[in-house]
Amino acid sequence: MPYFSAVVFVLGVCAGSFLNVLIDRLPKGETVTRGRSHCDHCKKTLRWYELIPLISYLVQGGRCRRCRKPLSAAYPVTELVTGIGFAAVFWATGGTESLTALVPLLRLTGSLIIFSSLLVITGADLKYYIIPDVMVISGFAGAGLMVLPAADPVNLMTRVFTGLAAGTFFYALRAITRGRGMGLGDVKLALLMGFLTGYPGIVMALYAAFLTGALVSVILVIGGRHSLQSIVPFGPFLILGTASALIWHQAFLIWWKGFIP
Ligand SMILES: [Zn+2]
Repeated sequence: MPYFSAVVFVLGVCAGSFLNVLIDRLPKGETVTRGRSHCDHCKKTLRWYELIPLISYLVQGGRCRRCRKPLSAAYPVTELVTGIGFAAVFWATGGTESLTALVPLLRLTGSLIIFSSLLVITGADLKYYIIPDVMVISGFAGAGLMVLPAADPVNLMTRVFTGLAAGTFFYALRAITRGRGMGLGDVKLALLMGFLTGYPGIVMALYAAFLTGALVSVILVIGGRHSLQSIVPFGPFLILGTASALIWHQAFLIWWKGFIP
């Protein structure tokens, strides 16, 4: 079914173009439905042919048509990642099979919403050090669509309690570090993270998040890019951990069951 992959990829690239708008505007509290996109440097309003996802960036050689200043590569990267991500989510949730029945369709829709929400949080946290509340809420909405139609009560309660435990853990961590390492956004993201991964998935997610977060911080400090005091946003690492836990869910469960009798 390469045809369907291509269609979903193109839809994803177009969705990625909108996610770019969310990444840039939500942290500043700007409206996302009105107002034309403009060049970051000269503020020129972009015409429709300058807004074609991926294509415009490539055709213009990564530069603004008026001021010739380089455009951020984050824009085409977000579009490409969304395209690849949408295609991957489509196949992971059953491909064309998921379009034929309601429960798989809800799972696919929920998964795409979760993917998009987490991608916007990653972009906004990297660029502005802000995790937009509305993206955590939409993440929960996606999780509801994904989980609710087929969930048994035990599974659901486990997810709720794991979310509350992860949120409490990060709230305590934030109190201990007096808010220097974490923001309230990380606490809210941890709630979502716990609900998405459940238990014991959350253990793998947190382990991966802290390990990669520490590694990257050390590399940035050694490389002279950051001082020890400067902030490295933690949201992207929480999301990296969550994604690993969701993708390698089965392998981790097998390992976990051998480890804890
Ligand atoms: Zn310009």
